[in-house]
Amino acid sequence: MQNSEIIGILGAIPQEVNGIINLLKGTIEKKIGNRTYYEGYLGNQKVVVVYSRIGKVAAAVTVSTLLLEYKVSKIIFIGVAGGIHSDIKIGDVVVASNLVQYDMDASPLRPKYEIPLLGKTYFNTDQDWSHEIVSKINSLLQPETLSQHISKDELSKFEITAPKVHFGTIASGDQFFSTQNQKDTLHNSLPEVLCVEMEGAAIAQVCYEFNTPFIVIRTISDNANQEASFSFQSFVEEISLTYGKEIIKMIIE
Ligand code: SAH
Repeated sequence: MQNSEIIGILGAIPQEVNGIINLLKGTIEKKIGNRTYYEGYLGNQKVVVVYSRIGKVAAAVTVSTLLLEYKVSKIIFIGVAGGIHSDIKIGDVVVASNLVQYDMDASPLRPKYEIPLLGKTYFNTDQDWSHEIVSKINSLLQPETLSQHISKDELSKFEITAPKVHFGTIASGDQFFSTQNQKDTLHNSLPEVLCVEMEGAAIAQVCYEFNTPFIVIRTISDNANQEASFSFQSFVEEISLTYGKEIIKMIIE
């Protein structure tokens, strides 16, 4: 029996989704609006996989295309992020409970971070689905399981020893965080934020407006500080593909 529901899977960059695209069976490729959408099956599940490119606009237009052209009924965003909260380490995974656009500011007309005319600041992910994913990712991150997928050398290069999965707030905006000052400013104004990235809250807003369940999963590639560019670059070249692929395999199974 094939499942008629279609799940949309997005990442921002090829290194976040290429591992997943390689797993697809019966792939049909289609270009729409300068992006390539890969429609196919993971087991019995029909999915459409795409990378949006970086930033909120790119993410919003791509998720809208998945909703309108492919009529997907659920969305998974998978990618990397910079750690903000002191509990978060490189190699950990953050599953979003909710998301906020830290660069939205129409004050004094509206409270800082609130989306004008929508009257919302935080967008909730699908809570049941997210909780289910948290426990699955927890098993994947057990050192003996993770080392079946990523070599011990690579794990030690990034000092990944006991990676954890967290459930909490993710902040998004059109900035790559590469200074301690950016990190401190965000932490001081929104102390509950676990990690920062550039697409999740845009996906969240579009899914909210289309009333579509979604989840956002981010592996920590860097500490959103002065070492971020180097750490991000090597993490996406060496590891993020494996994390993305193994997480999606587990979710869809
Ligand atoms: N090196 C890329 C730019 C990467 S932007 C280029 O050459 O174009 C970083 C990407 O990873 C974004 O998609 C964002 O969502 C996520 N990300 C990872 N670490 C981040 C950080 N420290 N600050 C902001 N976004 C981060």
